[in-house]
Amino acid sequence: MTNEQLQQYVEQLSLDVFALPFRHKAVFNGRLRTTGGRYFLTDHHLDFNRRYVTDAKTFRGIVIHELCHYHLHLAGRGHRHQDQDFKDWLMKYGGLRYSPRLVGDEKKSHQYECHKCGTLYRRKRKMNPEKYRCGKCRGKIFYKSS
Ligand SMILES: [Zn+2]
Ligand SMILES: [Zn+2]
Repeated sequence: MTNEQLQQYVEQLSLDVFALPFRHKAVFNGRLRTTGGRYFLTDHHLDFNRRYVTDAKTFRGIVIHELCHYHLHLAGRGHRHQDQDFKDWLMKYGGLRYSPRLVGDEKKSHQYECHKCGTLYRRKRKMNPEKYRCGKCRGKIFYKSS
């Protein structure tokens, strides 16, 4: 899948699933490792992890997840992971809650989440969340799951 095909895919899925247009950019970002996608609050573009494309059903769920962030944010509604609007939309539209682990990434890892902005972090080693702050918003981090 090329960036152009990705753009078309996201635009089409947005119309099919949400009946709302996606008017910004969707691109593959080679630096994403264990996340399937990311939404940028500043310029509204979406990054996706090419490694998830091979599993059509999973990839669809990832794109829907990011489109939930996108449409809720643009509508001025609760667009963060911990917001009720976001949780409702994930259920309603069939978005994935988490990016599933990729084959080859099965080694145990620990997941942390920012209280304030909901950004998820994965770490190989267990760390004390008290000692760290969110890289995006400096919010407090809490332990989520392994
Ligand atoms: Zn998300
Ligand atoms: Zn944060």
